Formats: sequence, structure tokens, C-alpha cells
Amino acid sequence: MSTTEPSIFTRIISREIPASIVAETDRLIAFNDIAPKAPVHILVVPKTPDYANVAELAVGDPQLLAEVVNLAQQIANEHGGQYRLIFNTGEKAGQTVFHVHAHILIGDLGEDPRA
Ligand code: 5GP
Repeated sequence: MSTTEPSIFTRIISREIPASIVAETDRLIAFNDIAPKAPVHILVVPKTPDYANVAELAVGDPQLLAEVVNLAQQIANEHGGQYRLIFNTGEKAGQTVFHVHAHILIGDLGEDPRA
């Protein structure tokens, strides 16, 4: 659930902090990651701060999760349509912003971490 401090993403959504925005709907925003880990690295973020991670979103608003995936596909289609979609969930998994977001990674992705 939301914390007392607005997340960095809430501050981007409110335009308090600048970001390179690539898409926006009434419920989502997508912008370039400030520290890209791939040639194309875009974050898709629900505007609501109510969900800390994808599991909370799936329970609380599965339709919104579907919107995240659909917008990711639309954005990826502009870059060839093949991509990795990552939701880091929990600190030990590398999550640093506890406002649910999907990473779209496209291009030279290096080694598959499952390998
Ligand atoms: P996480 O580690 O929580 O899965 O992903 C958070 C992502 O947000 C990181 O990839 C990080 O580079 C990105 N990020 C953090 N602060 C900012 C910011 O101020 N602007 C943008 N565009 N991305 C940010």
C-alpha cells in the first residue's frame, strides 16, 4: 500500500520531477528509465500509488495489470515487438521503488539470468 512519502514515480506523474515520457493513458504513464540496462529500457507505471508490487496489483486491480501489459506490448511494437517484461518484487529481488512498475527491456539484453 502507499507510504506517507510520495514515491519518485508519483512525483514524475505529478510533473514535479521531469522524465522522458513515451506514453500516457488515464491510468498509466510510461517513461525512459534514468539508468537504462538495455538499449531500450522503459518503465510502465500505474498512476495510482496504492500497489507496491505486481502481486498486490494482481489482487487489487487485475484489469489495471492487464492495461500495464497491453501498454508494454504497444510500446514494444514500436521497437520490433520482442521484449523482456520484468517486475522486480521485493528488496532482495532488486526492487528499489515500491510503487508497482514494469520494466520493458529491448535490444541487446546480455545473458538470460535464468541461464
Ligand atoms: P526497481 O529497482 O524498483 O525494479 O526499478 C526502479 C527503476 O526506477 C530503476 O531501474 C531506476 O533506474 C529507475 N528510476 C529511479 N529513479 C528514477 C527517476 O528519477 N527517473 C527515472 N526515469 N527513472 C528512475
